[in-house]
Order: sequence, then structure tokens, then C-alpha cells
Amino acid sequence: MGLETYRRRRDFKKTPEPKGRVSRRARRRFVVQEHHASRLHFDFRLEMGGVLKSWAAPKGPTLDPRVKRLAVMTEDHPVEYLKFEGRIPEGRYGAGEQLIWDAGNYEMKNDADPLRQLKEGKLSFELHGDKLQGGFNLIRMKGRDGEWLLIKSDDEFAQPGWKLELRLKTGETRKRKKSVGGARHPVKKFRAKAKQESRAIAASRVFRAKDLSGDIDLKIGKEIVALTNLDKVYWPNDGYTKGDLIRYYYGIAKYILPYLKDRPLILNRYPNGIGQPSFHQHDVDEAPDYARTVTIAVEEGHTVDYLVCDNLATLLYVANLGAIECHPWNSRVSALDHPDWCVFDLDPGEGVEFAAICETALRLREALNRAGLKCCAKTSGSRGIHVYAPLKPVHDYEEVAGFAERIAKLIAERYPQIATVERSLKKRPSGRIYVDHLQNARGKSVVAPYSVRPRAGATVSTPLDWNEIKRGKIKPQDFTIENILRRIERKGDLFRLALKGRQSLPSAVADL
Ligand code: MN
Repeated sequence: MGLETYRRRRDFKKTPEPKGRVSRRARRRFVVQEHHASRLHFDFRLEMGGVLKSWAAPKGPTLDPRVKRLAVMTEDHPVEYLKFEGRIPEGRYGAGEQLIWDAGNYEMKNDADPLRQLKEGKLSFELHGDKLQGGFNLIRMKGRDGEWLLIKSDDEFAQPGWKLELRLKTGETRKRKKSVGGARHPVKKFRAKAKQESRAIAASRVFRAKDLSGDIDLKIGKEIVALTNLDKVYWPNDGYTKGDLIRYYYGIAKYILPYLKDRPLILNRYPNGIGQPSFHQHDVDEAPDYARTVTIAVEEGHTVDYLVCDNLATLLYVANLGAIECHPWNSRVSALDHPDWCVFDLDPGEGVEFAAICETALRLREALNRAGLKCCAKTSGSRGIHVYAPLKPVHDYEEVAGFAERIAKLIAERYPQIATVERSLKKRPSGRIYVDHLQNARGKSVVAPYSVRPRAGATVSTPLDWNEIKRGKIKPQDFTIENILRRIERKGDLFRLALKGRQSLPSAVADL
């Protein structure tokens, strides 16, 4: 019994699934996952021997004792999978959305040993879930490799004619993440309540609470945003949870939304927090009614449905997906091929002082000013600075990228001691700041102003005043989800120029 097969089939840099390990505690928990893989099925998992014994049931379980359901044994999963929900990226093993359909504890009939019954090919147990309750049996079919039957015992929990309800309707817009059955927390002693509408709570009330936990249906105007697993720890060293992330985005919405509005959004998702596998998502299959999507042709015959974050409900929906970072395009839906800002990412090499990055930002600003362009700057939230020169949306991506490249090269030529445009990390001279101009291509992006970063301290990409950069006393780590709002109260939004400046590129940069 181990997780070798499980691990061999997965690349944990590319899937949000937990790597997990064999548990030493003998607990009896179960989960049923609704897996929207290439073919929809249900994964039925029972905890025993420190792992989750797993079966894939094409039609899922049933409460109807007259119906036998096929369940094909699959590889053991780690117990961490009991809590797993997320989208397994395209091209990975089991690609598709994985949702928890039901979960809880189980007991063996007559307190039997589950591993022994497993070996004998006949398991009899009682489930205590929200949807699944009472006796169930898993019976191995003779001469059929790995094929079992899952059958409900005919007890007081049996419901002849019972119909399974999906949490996520196939091919339909997902409206509510939470199913009608209510909360899905383990250990319910009594029969699940009949259909009960869960009550949505006003956002203003929810975010006043100090600690957010569990699942909450949030009411925002007429919309309901389903927030889930709010107590999941996203920054283990700082103790910030997913709830803290969502609370931050709720508070900052007024300031960040103008920078996201009308722009295709790339989601950088960390469903299990920082330091855990993450993935970029361009294409969204489902979006709630309140979220706008736009279909964009990316290459011959291929289109991508991008989310566009125009309102508070969408912003919180996105945060609930674990998208710690917001990456908007450099152009708007109304003029997709014409970026309305040109962006430079000053990325320091090892051992570079932040003061040197400030110095480089000032040099870059001088060069842009000489080209007739005003610009504004923000911390990247990691180690560098981003400089934006706002543009009229009249130049195409190639033109803007070409201009950015010339400016970056000019800086590197003029200040070779501090700046470089060498892309390759290996070839880059040490101690230099990389003037990255390559994010000015179609479909590329840098993190939005006021976006959180998946870094220690929950830092925020923070607009700076040029005088702060001149003094060079600040550090990106100074600005976090804890203090940005107070800073804005004092200083206002220092990035407004990026939206208001409507400048044209100069015809030549030769004499800068
Ligand atoms: Mn599956």
C-alpha cells in the first residue's frame, strides 16, 4: 500500500492536486468527488491503511437499493485528497474540474477490518455523509479485473427512485458552487435535511468578522457569490487564509477594478496556497452569470474564453478560485490589438539592492520623458519595479513591443553597470537589473496594481510616488494586504496616470 502509482501519474508542478503522504493515523473518512474529466464520473474513496482506497464510478453512487452501480478500482490516493477541489489542467492526468460531491465518516459493519474485507472482495460499511447515509456494499466481480459493484443496503436511508444531482451541470453555466444539499461537512448523525435553500449573507456583514471559515454564500447586490474553504491557510508562514485574501480584494475592489475593467484576465491560481502547485488559466469553461467572458482568437483555429473582471462579484469569484494574482491584458476588449500601456519590468538579479532598482527606474523614466512619455511606477510585490507608460490605443502590439525594446536596450547600453537586456539568466552579468520589455506582446501581462503576490508576507504590487523612488528608502516588502488601504487613504491612487494618460509613441527614439 503506497502512493507510488498516484505520484508517478502526476507532475506536482503542473497539477494543483496534493502530493500528500501515507497517513499514520487510522481514521475512517470518505469522500465522493464529482470529476468532470474527459468523461464525467464519480470518484468514491474510503480511508484505510493511511491512504484512500479509490474507485471510479461512471454513474456515481445511488440511494436506490435496487440499483447496482459499477465502480472500477483505481490507484490509492493520499488522505489529503479528501479535501481536494480544483481544476486539473488540460493535458494532465485526470484533466478537468474535481469537486467534492459528498464527504463524511464511515463505520465498518460489526467493526470489521476494512483491509481484510477489501482483500476478500466484499466491503460492508455505513456512511455518515450529507447525501450518502446508511449501509453500503462494495462487491468485487469475479473474473473482472478491478470491477466492483457499489450497492446501497436496504435500510431506513434507502430511497427507491433516488436521482443523483450534480453540483456542476455539464455544459451549463455554473450558477452556484454549493449544491442544494447544503454544507458538506462530515459527521452528521441524522438523515440529511430535505432540500433547504442556503441563505446568502450580505458582504458588508461577512467581512466584518475577524475570522472567516467554511463556506459562505455572499450576497453582493443581486448576485450571490459562493465562497468556499475560507479557513484554508494560503500563507502558512504568515497564517493568512483564503478568507483574508478575499477580504483584501473586497476592501481594495474600488481601486483595483479600474485596472482590470474591460481587459481579458489571466488567472494565476494557487488552490492550495503559496508554495503549493499553481497554474495559469487563460481559458475558462464555466463562469457565473455575473462574470463576463470574451472569446478571443489566439491562433489559427483556436479560441480562448477569457474572463473579464468588471465587477466586485467577479473579483471575489476569481479570488475564491485561488487566483492570488490578477493579470490583465495590456489592451481592452474594445481594442484588443492596441495596447493602452507600455510596460517595463525591472527585475533584479541576485544580491541587487532595492535602491539600485529605484535608480534604474529613474533612468528609465528620464528616457521615457525624453521620448515625450509620462510614466508611473509600482513595486512588483516581489523584488522589482514595474514602470508603465500609458498610451492611446492606436499602436499595435508589434509597434509597442518594438518601442519598449529600443528603450530597454538604450538603458542597458547607457548604464551597463546596473542594467541588462540579456534574457538568459546564465548569460546575464551578475548584480544587474534585467530590463524586461517582453511583456508587451499580445496575451502577455504583468500583475495588476494592487494585486496580491504569492510571496511571503502577502505583499501587494503597490503604486509608488516618484519621490519615494528618489529617496530609495522603501522596500517591496513594506506593502502588504494589511496596510495598503491605509496607504491609499493617505496618498490616494498613485497609479491613475496609467488610465488617464493617452499618449502617442514618438516617431523615433534615435536621439534620446
Ligand atoms: Mn477521477
